Amino acid sequence: MNAIIETENEYGAQNYLPLPVVLTRGEGVYLWDVDGKRYLDMMGAYSAVSFGHCHPQLVTALSEQAKRLAVTSRAFYSDKLAGFLKAACELTEFDKALPMNSGAEAVETALKAARKWGYTQKNIAHDQAEIIVCENNFHGRTIAIVGMSTEHQYREGFGPFPGGFKCIPYGDPQALKEAITPNTAAFLLEPIQGEAGIVMPPEGYLTQCAEICAQNNVLLLCDEIQTGLGRTGKVLAYQHENIKPDGVILGKALGGGLLPVSLFLARADVMDVFTPGDHGSTFGGNPVAAAVGLRALQLLTSEGLAERSAELGEYLLDQLHQFNTPAIKDIRGKGLFIGVEIEPKYATAREICLQLMTHGILSKETHKTVVRLAPPLIITKEQLDTTLAALREVLSQYG
Ligand SMILES: *Cc1c(COP(=O)(O)O)cnc(C)c1O
Repeated sequence: MNAIIETENEYGAQNYLPLPVVLTRGEGVYLWDVDGKRYLDMMGAYSAVSFGHCHPQLVTALSEQAKRLAVTSRAFYSDKLAGFLKAACELTEFDKALPMNSGAEAVETALKAARKWGYTQKNIAHDQAEIIVCENNFHGRTIAIVGMSTEHQYREGFGPFPGGFKCIPYGDPQALKEAITPNTAAFLLEPIQGEAGIVMPPEGYLTQCAEICAQNNVLLLCDEIQTGLGRTGKVLAYQHENIKPDGVILGKALGGGLLPVSLFLARADVMDVFTPGDHGSTFGGNPVAAAVGLRALQLLTSEGLAERSAELGEYLLDQLHQFNTPAIKDIRGKGLFIGVEIEPKYATAREICLQLMTHGILSKETHKTVVRLAPPLIITKEQLDTTLAALREVLSQYG
């Protein structure tokens, strides 16, 4: 195991600090390392593996399609993309979808759509469009996207950044109201901030944001790359407040845990700002991605994963609240999207994750203090109990 880690460290860029475990196989909620030790995956690859590792139906969709036709580019139609886009629009109740690969690309797509909509539909003066984002957001890693970040490390050394972004506190509708000008094209937010440490806005926030955006002819765009597709106990996290944004961004779990698949979905008047040549992606919407994405959307519904996430998430939260240890500072989340904030005077979240690893549980810290519990949504109550027992044992040494 150490030799592999050393080789990766020697030849790979050091832009991650992984836990020292080398995985070689996955099945359902389980992962195995090269020494044959089994782990319960409580991370789910940052919510990309909601269906579990190597789901047989998704692997079949991928391999069947790969044998038939894999990549066409969008220079031609394929017989797979239409069905995928239709299913995604029907599930989310949006008119149109634009396929990309990574989440960051779909966010960039949403930003481009919002700006062009601002110029063509709202008559914002040339190059004056503004997009409002929230403090502590995470929308990906491109130059434009880290330019809207407030996280020092994400930005430092990577400037200059494109202009046209304004940043307001998350959870503060009054700040949104005050930030809007006639040049505001869109407000982009995460319904629950994932990378910020599973941060939930106050109740009613999304509803107020939707009202403010509607009153001011500003697009409300929700980044549901991490929160979407059942993660928080609803198909889309904004459905907890019964709002309907003007556009939504999906990624991560959309690829069925097998490959990168992302979508920007929006109302027709927003998506129709794009004309041929405006925007594109060589691999976006390729037949393999479309086949896997479609199967993933079908599985989400047929396996009732959003409902399962709601039920099991409530159980997990309830059990965590009974822990009664001074080592836990806060517990937050919805569905199987839970952050356990560790009291920093006892341990860092990474130290807790390293100890959980020796107990056969894999998770990863977000920032220094939060342990993320976001397992594949196919997890069982018994497997959650195993995790709870390990966490209880690890935390019992503190306080
Ligand atoms: C992961 C994530 C992204 C970026 O997705 P990539 O596929 O890593 O580019 C964007 N927004 C949110 C909310 C995310 O969690």
